Amino acid sequence: MDTDVLIVGAGPTGLALAARLHRLGVGVRVIDKHAGVLELTKSAALHARTLEHLRDLGVVDAVLAEGRRVDVLCLRTGHRDRLAVDFRTLADTAYPFMVDIPQARTEHLLIDLLADQGVRVERGTECTGVEQDADGVRATVVTGGRTATVRARWLVGCDGAHSTVRGLLGIERVGAPYADDWVLCDAVVDWPLPRNEMTFSGDTEGIFGVFPLPGERRYRLAYTATPGVEPDLRDAQNAMARTGIEGTIRSVDQFWTFSLAHEQAVRYRSGRVFLAGDAGHVHTPFGGQGLNLGIGDAMNLAWRLAAAARGDAGALDSYQDERHPVAAQVIAFTHRGAQMMLLRGDPRRHVRDAALTVLRSSPRARRALARRFSQLDHGYRRASGTSGRVRGLAGGDRLPDLAFFDGRANRPRRLHALLPDDRHTVLLTDPAQAEGLAVPDSCAVRVLTPDWARAESTGGVPTALDRGREAARLYGAAYLVRPDRHLAYAGPAAGLSAALAPLARLGEVR
Ligand SMILES: Cc1cc2nc3c(=O)[nH]c(=O)nc-3n(C[C@H](O)[C@H](O)[C@H](O)COP(=O)(O)OP(=O)(O)OC[C@H]3O[C@@H](n4cnc5c(N)ncnc54)[C@H](O)[C@@H]3O)c2cc1C
Repeated sequence: MDTDVLIVGAGPTGLALAARLHRLGVGVRVIDKHAGVLELTKSAALHARTLEHLRDLGVVDAVLAEGRRVDVLCLRTGHRDRLAVDFRTLADTAYPFMVDIPQARTEHLLIDLLADQGVRVERGTECTGVEQDADGVRATVVTGGRTATVRARWLVGCDGAHSTVRGLLGIERVGAPYADDWVLCDAVVDWPLPRNEMTFSGDTEGIFGVFPLPGERRYRLAYTATPGVEPDLRDAQNAMARTGIEGTIRSVDQFWTFSLAHEQAVRYRSGRVFLAGDAGHVHTPFGGQGLNLGIGDAMNLAWRLAAAARGDAGALDSYQDERHPVAAQVIAFTHRGAQMMLLRGDPRRHVRDAALTVLRSSPRARRALARRFSQLDHGYRRASGTSGRVRGLAGGDRLPDLAFFDGRANRPRRLHALLPDDRHTVLLTDPAQAEGLAVPDSCAVRVLTPDWARAESTGGVPTALDRGREAARLYGAAYLVRPDRHLAYAGPAAGLSAALAPLARLGEVR
């Protein structure tokens, strides 16, 4: 074999997958048909769950330093603010906000990370054929007119909405294109609203979205195209005027017109070949979800491929079970959101406005929406390979990143920071839960306890003392946490042995 995993496509999904696989000790090659990063205006918004993933990849500090923090997503219709979704209400994450940063910058940061790890993206290299048998995959790749074969144990198509890999596998998509084209541009704008606010306005002509970007008075503007009108500064200014907010566009870098669809591949896997990111799902930019979803796919698939490389091929089976329904939910949510904002002069707009007003008066509904956009609640409760349920947490849920004061280290900490991100971890809340428990070498053990006396008697297991019982919702149970910070198991300690059984089979990467 030339490599363990061949990744086709060096967009955000492929780059995140490559970095994660490398961290997990899996051999990886990444090819991309383009000569460099496309500096095209595309995604801007990174949500809380993605920032957690970027933390585990090791680039979140750079993203935070460079990006613009956005606290509020405001929905406006008919010239009025209808609903403000405040991400500062997100309680169990270190990142209770969104970060706006051009997609190309996110890609460059991941490429730099890979370069530091010694992984180089093979540019100008296009995948044109895929064959597989029981042992591996043979990909035909073309570089500068020369054709070669790359043999890998697995191949992942991260090659975007028009995925060649998906086409070669003959995997159908379901969904439909939208009638409206969209225009996107990065601009310098005198915009009177706060810089920590992203705005989507619906009016009788279409949608106008304003995303604050890093840089003085810089914004990304996204709006529904007027049929027959070539986008230019005047067109953008006219569209902005429809929001009812007095903004002035000073200059624009470039315009990009694009069409959209809500579509999903019916399968994410064919034998040893997988789809991730836009290759598997596309939808509207409502709420800035797509790139975030792709990075979520990558983090979910990476540890499975690492487990398969160590002898547990069964770990690959639930990738589709977990990620397909999550993307289906996002597609449905963004479809409803965009349709709602695109009612134009339809009389149902009055019902929409009334509904938004009701939502506005409910802090609970606004918090729920913030969680929805943030992707923090994407979970896998019904998927195989996850089990148990205790005190509101179940196998498949994301482990909440609770903040607590560690009485042993004598400093504030977060739960995720207590756990390694390159292996499964048994998280005990009482050292006595370890009695008689056989933990495979591939797995870490951590103790989080509120009990002063017990915190001193954990026999060398890394232990944190939760002095203020701030993680009280976890106590009385034990957990098996996956490398992607989702729970493989939540429940009585007696249930851990069964949950650990698949990990006992793991060897070295073979
Ligand atoms: C206008 C717009 C605004 C958006 N705004 C947001 C936002 O705010 N937040 C958000 O989360 N998402 C947003 N998105 C979505 C986001 O841009 C995509 O979800 C994201 O780019 C998907 O990443 P990917 O890596 O899966 O695919 P892509 O970014 O499409 O990357 C695919 C890569 O595969 C390569 N490739 C293709 N075919 C081959 C082949 N045969 N061989 C080798 N290489 C190949 C391509 O060159 C490309 O580099 C937006 C999208 C659009 C269009």
